[in-house]
Amino acid sequence: MTQRLLCIGECMVELSPRGEDSCAIGYAGDTFNTAFYARQVAGPEALRVAYQSGVGDDELSARMIAFMEAQGVETRMHVVPGATVGLYMIFLKNGERSFQYWRAQSAARRLAEGLETFAALQPGDTAYFSGITLAILTEADRERLLDWLAQARARGVRTAFDPNLRPRLWPSADDMRDWTMRGAGVADVILPSFEDEATWFGDADLRATAERYLAAGADLLIVKDGPGAVLIRQRGREDVLVSPAPVREIVDTTSAGDAFNGAVLAALAEGTSLERAVALGCDVAGQVVQQRGALVQVSLARETGSA
Ligand code: ADP
Repeated sequence: MTQRLLCIGECMVELSPRGEDSCAIGYAGDTFNTAFYARQVAGPEALRVAYQSGVGDDELSARMIAFMEAQGVETRMHVVPGATVGLYMIFLKNGERSFQYWRAQSAARRLAEGLETFAALQPGDTAYFSGITLAILTEADRERLLDWLAQARARGVRTAFDPNLRPRLWPSADDMRDWTMRGAGVADVILPSFEDEATWFGDADLRATAERYLAAGADLLIVKDGPGAVLIRQRGREDVLVSPAPVREIVDTTSAGDAFNGAVLAALAEGTSLERAVALGCDVAGQVVQQRGALVQVSLARETGSA
């Protein structure tokens, strides 16, 4: 039976500069980026990829949904009448990118009201969420989402979490740390980025990050480290390190971690071995950092199946 990967979170409209006074419209957001790359990596017969969020009933929301579906990502949207989707604009100054966000009122903040749409997940399917998914919700809705994930996990759904630490989205760093660990507490697979974890949790090395999250109850830790080796820690197994191939020129690292996650989760859902799935994640992320923009086309040179 075709498996499902359901990514849960916020996708935004992206305005990126084209010349002095115009912008191109795109769509991006950490969990959607992951869905986009999972869709590119997995065969359509092997995996259905869906995105769960909140949208408005306006033209912009309709265009975002049409974009997602055109990418082959199914949409499971809670529609909030009168609301709209979040938006961000990229500014380029002397080659440096900065971002301004308009997302405080976005419909995605109400995504937990659509939880019943998750009911279609079966044992063996994957549900993916991130620290950003948690950050945008009210406390009550965070509880609701974590309860739903815990119940799904108990039914045999694989739950996957990227802590994606973004202190600006949280009232305080303590709040962020507290909810991050609660998110980790309902996850089977955790995919953190070491640099952020070291900054906000004071982890001395990748093993310290893995141990802290294993203690929260996860079975599998995949700790990314930019150009450094990825650490795979599976409960009861020896650690494995997988090194990303060196990259000729870094053009734009936006969404590298999201792309990595999408490729790994898609490959695992297809039954690829853990090490090969992580190597594929590195390959896809390595292509992403060499191109501009969050969502780019990648080429796949790989065999599937377990090693
Ligand atoms: P995030 O974007 O979440 O901070 P990382 O920076 O840890 O994630 O990068 C995720 C993955 O992207 C890495 O595991 C690696 O495969 C790839 N990557 C990132 N930066 C580089 C780089 N400089 N050279 C090669 N690969 C990279």
